[in-house]
Amino acid sequence: MTARILSGKPIADAIKAEVAGEVEQLERTHGFRPCLTVVRVGEDAASAVYVGKKVKTSEELGIISELRHLPVDILHGDLLAIIKELNGRPDVDGILVQLPLPDQIRTSEILETIDPEKDVDGFHPVNAGRLAQGEKSLVPCTPAGVIEMLKRSDIEIAGQHAVIVGRSNIVGKPMAMLLLRENATVTICHSRTKNLAGITRQADILVAAIGRPGFISGEHIREGAVVIDVGINNVSDTDVVRGLFKGEELGKRLTAIEKRGFTLVGDVNPKEAMEKAGSFTPVPGGVGLLTVAMLMRNTVDAAVKRRKL
Ligand code: NDP
Repeated sequence: MTARILSGKPIADAIKAEVAGEVEQLERTHGFRPCLTVVRVGEDAASAVYVGKKVKTSEELGIISELRHLPVDILHGDLLAIIKELNGRPDVDGILVQLPLPDQIRTSEILETIDPEKDVDGFHPVNAGRLAQGEKSLVPCTPAGVIEMLKRSDIEIAGQHAVIVGRSNIVGKPMAMLLLRENATVTICHSRTKNLAGITRQADILVAAIGRPGFISGEHIREGAVVIDVGINNVSDTDVVRGLFKGEELGKRLTAIEKRGFTLVGDVNPKEAMEKAGSFTPVPGGVGLLTVAMLMRNTVDAAVKRRKL
């Protein structure tokens, strides 16, 4: 069997087009465009790339974007004050604090200070609680993107056994809640799970959100399952890459390592997933592309809700 590739690009493009249409309509009928403020602290290279993508996509869709780039040694109290100022600004619809934050900052206190109505990352305990209770809320972008990927690829969720490997507050747990809301039967696995492969092989839908390159191998996958790879890992070891890719793709990956020093790899072994899965999301080019699209979706939703339109 060769798996059907679930590509993120057409789905991300469709979501972005819908959001751009809504932004235009809000401007036409209500005279404003939603505003997203992204807070970046310090000079972390990966954060710079992620923030850049968020700002650029906002601008493409007509969302007003504001970047607050703060020094790495900013005091906790000063960052807190900035969040409070943004909470109080009527023109700001979404506040996103790019993680990770430097050591002197108490991250959970910062995230909990963001007004839940402006919490476009969906990390605030109020939004996590609402999601757990099955109420409407702002939902973390990556798992929300996975649901869009499944629905828009006409993959049945209701009644299916979904197994998630990973239980983080950012991906694993909200993923479980969203799949439950879609009436899947959900199992969550983590680093203390016994007989992991025995459980993942029962999955109709297997979601990997682990942070270990190529960890999910053929032995973890039931023949024909839908395999969603959320992982994003930088790999520079050519031996690891040789175990994960073959043919032309392997060539591309080795060239990338030679040129850039690394290649992006998911948490699933793509070579083995392609042989066993029914459908599979590639890395890059899979669900990763949906995260920013869903952030745009959340920004417009937050604007509509808080402005009571
Ligand atoms: P975390 O490190 O917060 O969580 C990883 C989870 O995997 C934990 O629950 C951990 O279990 C579990 N785990 C680790 N090792 C094993 C193992 N050997 N067997 C079973 N479970 C294991 O990571 P995140 O959730 O933040 O991210 C997961 C992946 O998704 C990463 O590759 C990250 O880069 C990627 N990601 C991608 C995004 C996107 O935009 N596409 C956005 C966010 C993340 P335990 O809880 O027991 O420690």
